[in-house]
Amino acid sequence: MAYVGLGGNVDDPRVRMRRALAAMADLPATRVAGVSSLYRSRPHGPQDQPEYLNAVAALETALPAEALLEALQAIERDAGRRRDGPRWGPRTLDLDLLVYGTLRLDRPGLTLPHPRIAERAFVLAPLAELAPELEIPGLGPVAALLQACRDDSLLAREAAAP
Ligand code: ADP
Ligand code: MG
Repeated sequence: MAYVGLGGNVDDPRVRMRRALAAMADLPATRVAGVSSLYRSRPHGPQDQPEYLNAVAALETALPAEALLEALQAIERDAGRRRDGPRWGPRTLDLDLLVYGTLRLDRPGLTLPHPRIAERAFVLAPLAELAPELEIPGLGPVAALLQACRDDSLLAREAAAP
């Protein structure tokens, strides 16, 4: 199973996330096996920007990890394309490959598990909701990581999925 983190804070992230989920479901040899609730979090860095929305999706896929990341980046690019002006929103949609089975990898362009997973409550919380028994390769059980995580940017869990 692969887990993908979805996030965004401008230009209706909920709609973009929903479209991204549909695009993931359309990938070859890929099924969306589950989606977490939406989580709201405070932006890192400058506070004069909207709250972030985050979620995690579980994908059952026969695509290799590199091909999956390329596909996710293509979906990001499509979502970032604005029709109403030349500016590209920096955070319209962020898709991160969080975990790919038991694979551990450190290559230019792809590190697995995602290198900042353990320090981000807005990733760990939806991941733990979706897969409470998940073992993050090299790091330990997701529940333990969430418990140990000191990130205080997580604000709330929304009732709904994206
Ligand atoms: P972040 O998601 O950390 O806020 P970006 O989305 O801008 O930042 O980072 C994208 C870069 O991270 C890409 O160049 C991509 O190749 C690299 N990267 C390395 N490992 C991963 C991964 N597991 N998932 C997504 N991107 C990754
Ligand atoms: Mg990213």
